Amino acid sequence: MQKELQSIDTPMEKANFYIFPAYCKGCGLCKEKCPNDVLIWSDDLGVYGTPTVKPKDEDSCIACMICEMVCPDCAIRIERIRKGK
Ligand code: SF4
Ligand code: SF4
Repeated sequence: MQKELQSIDTPMEKANFYIFPAYCKGCGLCKEKCPNDVLIWSDDLGVYGTPTVKPKDEDSCIACMICEMVCPDCAIRIERIRKGK
């Protein structure tokens, strides 16, 4: 059966943060590796019924994309916001 590919979107100043709960296993690696401690546990549950993650505020993310790169399950997508287009 195909996984439900619905994301929870959080707009921030430098990037849009997307979490795909159907892929997140709640391992916390993204939280560990974020250089600015942006990510916190969310009330939304992931594939194993464990918490997913969400940004704690709108302005501490520097859009480095490390969380997206380290997630072993491709559960995060960072969309950088380009200014001055
Ligand atoms: S893009 Fe970088 S700063 Fe923003 S939440 Fe991910 S790891 Fe943290
Ligand atoms: S988003 Fe990825 S790295 Fe972060 S807790 Fe979920 S599975 Fe782990």
